[in-house]
Amino acid sequence: MRDLWSRLRHDAYLAIVIFAGLLGLVSIFPFALYRWIAGEWVMVALDSLLTLTTLMALYIAWYRGQPRLAGQILSLLYAAGAIIAAIYLPVTGLFWFYCVVLFNFFIAPPLRSTLITLGSLAAICLYGLWRPGTIFTDLQHLIIFACTALICSLFAYLFAWRTTLQRRSLQELANPDPLTGVGNRRTLMQEIEIALANFRRHGNQCGLLLLDIDHFKIINDTHGHAEGDRVLVDLADLVWHSSRRADRLFRLGGEEFVLLLPGADLSGLNSAAQNIVRAVGERVHTPDGPVTVSIGGTLLLPEDDGSSWIHRADICLYQAKNGGRNRSVIHGAESQGTESGEIMAH
Ligand code: GH3
Ligand code: MG
Ligand code: MG
Repeated sequence: MRDLWSRLRHDAYLAIVIFAGLLGLVSIFPFALYRWIAGEWVMVALDSLLTLTTLMALYIAWYRGQPRLAGQILSLLYAAGAIIAAIYLPVTGLFWFYCVVLFNFFIAPPLRSTLITLGSLAAICLYGLWRPGTIFTDLQHLIIFACTALICSLFAYLFAWRTTLQRRSLQELANPDPLTGVGNRRTLMQEIEIALANFRRHGNQCGLLLLDIDHFKIINDTHGHAEGDRVLVDLADLVWHSSRRADRLFRLGGEEFVLLLPGADLSGLNSAAQNIVRAVGERVHTPDGPVTVSIGGTLLLPEDDGSSWIHRADICLYQAKNGGRNRSVIHGAESQGTESGEIMAH
């Protein structure tokens, strides 16, 4: 049961398809029974077909892991169902069309659902014109139906389009670095903009540490890329666990990371950097011995923009590398090695 919830929670689209499919089953199946009792055999066949195909789509989504295919089957199926219902159930059958419009925009991408909706609307209207008196009582009925269905589709389209845009930008923001699980470069740029705005508006101080693993190329060359990846994961894990709740860790690329420390002052930033250098030297290892990092850090200054802030940290990092690695250099603070300054990487 927990697996079930966790799968639905982590795959929003699967959750929508399953929810829509179950809703379809609950709303169609009772009608199949009702038509059976009433002896309306065409509708019994139609409702049974819809029920069975919905079950098949649910199976494809859940067991075959293809929710998108299932969503498309459902949206085509229900559009076809709405056309047949409109033809075989004069006047009342048309109401299903509105449900199908909403359902399609909920489940299929905006453009595809527009095509399906307009296609099925055209089919119903053309059939109504071809055989007057079957679906629509008169021309006015047809025009009112077509207008209301189009207005409904337009609103559903705008809503679906907005939701798609928002979901994409949320996904990009939430996408962590696939190897280490920390924030990616793009998220970092967004967080830097937020830090700048908070500093300008409210004077909230923020520190930035730029971390670079020492001689990482040698680790890769000696022990292989997989071992290098393991070191990256261990380092990100260690830094993340040893930082404060408000601190945010990002992978800038390769073996470089950025830690943002909201509210830090110069001495806090300095000791955070020294703690990281010491902890990495003590707790991250390769078969040959300890891994070390060099860190450049700086507080946000009034004249900064995002790139000048990172650039200053980069200059400090360069000094830390030139000063012998396995150390931190913080802009405006005394530069120091770690207590275990003699630990040199490889
Ligand atoms: P320095 O002490 O001066 O920082 O030297 P370095 O060897 O750490 O730096 P350099 O920039 O020469 O090498 C970085 C290496 O990181 C080269 C590249 O192959 C490796 N690298 C980049 N991304 C990844 C990754 O995702 N996984 C692994 N395993 N290695 C990576
Ligand atoms: Mg580097
Ligand atoms: Mg390096």
